[in-house]
Amino acid sequence: MTAAIPTLAASMHSMAGVFAALLPQDGLSSAELGTRDLVIQATYLIAAVLFILGLRSLTRPAQARLGMQQAAFGMLFAVIGTLLNAHILTYQYIIIGLVVGAIIGYPMAMKVPMTAMPQFIAFSHAFGAIAATLVGIVEYRHSFTMGMDGMMPGMSSGVAAAIGFEVLFGALTVTGSFMAFGKLQELITGRPITFPGQNAFNITLIGVALISLGVLIYNPDTAWAFYTIVGLGFFLGVSMVLPIGGGDMPVVISLLNSYAGLAASATGFAIGNNVLIIAGALEGAGGFILSIIMSKAMNRSFANIIFGAFGSAPSSKGKDAGPAKEPKTISVEDAATQLAYAGSVVIIPGYGMAVAQAQHVCRELHELVEKHGGKVSYAIHPVAGRMPGHLNVILSEAGIDYGALLTDVEDANRVLQTADIAVIIGANDIVNPDAEDDKASPLYGMPIFRPWTSKVSFVVKRGKGTGFSGVENPLFTKDNTFMIYGDAKGVLGNLIKEIKALDEGH
Ligand code: NAP
Repeated sequence: MTAAIPTLAASMHSMAGVFAALLPQDGLSSAELGTRDLVIQATYLIAAVLFILGLRSLTRPAQARLGMQQAAFGMLFAVIGTLLNAHILTYQYIIIGLVVGAIIGYPMAMKVPMTAMPQFIAFSHAFGAIAATLVGIVEYRHSFTMGMDGMMPGMSSGVAAAIGFEVLFGALTVTGSFMAFGKLQELITGRPITFPGQNAFNITLIGVALISLGVLIYNPDTAWAFYTIVGLGFFLGVSMVLPIGGGDMPVVISLLNSYAGLAASATGFAIGNNVLIIAGALEGAGGFILSIIMSKAMNRSFANIIFGAFGSAPSSKGKDAGPAKEPKTISVEDAATQLAYAGSVVIIPGYGMAVAQAQHVCRELHELVEKHGGKVSYAIHPVAGRMPGHLNVILSEAGIDYGALLTDVEDANRVLQTADIAVIIGANDIVNPDAEDDKASPLYGMPIFRPWTSKVSFVVKRGKGTGFSGVENPLFTKDNTFMIYGDAKGVLGNLIKEIKALDEGH
């Protein structure tokens, strides 16, 4: 869904960008123009209905695929409708754009691994936002350039407000998305980059941009105000994302997604394109709701994410809190024996499972435990992994039944209380008891799973690495917690082998 709406809006931006630069065609009769306009509006209506149906389907995991198909068909109708526009003088540049876009986009979308999805979305956002910004600049220049008829179209204050808003949010989204991409792809440090007075500096820049917007609305032909907004938009994208840690990038990306949607909607008003208004509004609202869901699940405010420089601090308990207790380990053989005889098992997958691509082997283990009479369920945290729904998608990819997923944290905690074994696979922050016990922890207040309430818990991870928050996890040293160190895929494979060996009586 997050990928569908920005892509859709980006395509509309690109189309609109081409149209904005072209002049009206006079060769058609008014009857032809009327029929054509009717067909265009009908395709836009179908597109809008399909976008909304797609979003509705995406609210249920079982229908998510259908939702993506509905949205894709909606996009097809929107593109067809736009291509029928009577203002197009030549299709040459549009065809070149479509071919180049398809050659770059298709292999990228097919090859990108799930773990790289956040940066992929950031990257595609940047291009959608470039298109929105260009549409704004072209439209502004067109309005204040003398036409062949010797007239200058000019611009009303309402349109100037829409265009100013569009280029500010568009430009901010371009550089902000590239920064988010760079941080997630580790091209630049994922740690927050801060300097004294940074927040005051950013707020001053926002103030100057808003004053320039006010000047532009008051007097639309003030070109310096327009280009100041564009320049500050580009600068703000960099300066506002610098102090945000790499781990918070998914929230930033969905916030930028929301800004890009609002910019697209403003473009729709400026160039009179209904489907752009609707797609932009859906994208704006979708991105905003997603950001709220993520920050709620992390129990953090937007202000804390944007100004909090989360991820820069070491463990809240510090390094001199006394000699650290060592986690206990369990052998794969012993863990396999316990799993084979367990009556109920709750699997808690996290980011590490996605990194290891261990979902298929996890399903095999699940089936094996069930063959031995155990009941298996999955506790899925709303912010497990690096994007909302990350683990749901990965598990469904492996064919794990939705009925086995516990997606409500409190429901899952009730099941954990009576479980024989909790198996934590590549998860860390979402099972950190400090979120409940340590007020100084950056995780404090985040709802978490309580695997220590089960009879025993096994933690599968490669070593002593911290989670994305960078803090230590006291779960690992609890009396009934046992570590199984190794790559998740390898460890689960070995557990399967051992259970099978038990069955064969070795
Ligand atoms: P996590 O806290 O990032 O922990 C992942 C753990 O996986 C690490 O401790 C790592 O330990 C282990 N790991 C990495 N590669 C592995 C491999 N190949 N095999 C086995 N283990 C591996 O992940 P989480 O528990 O899923 O929590 C998600 C975090 O991301 C939360 O703090 C959340 O707030 C944040 N976040 C999520 C979203 C979202 O929308 N989902 C958005 C923004 C932020 P080793 O290095 O020792 O192996």
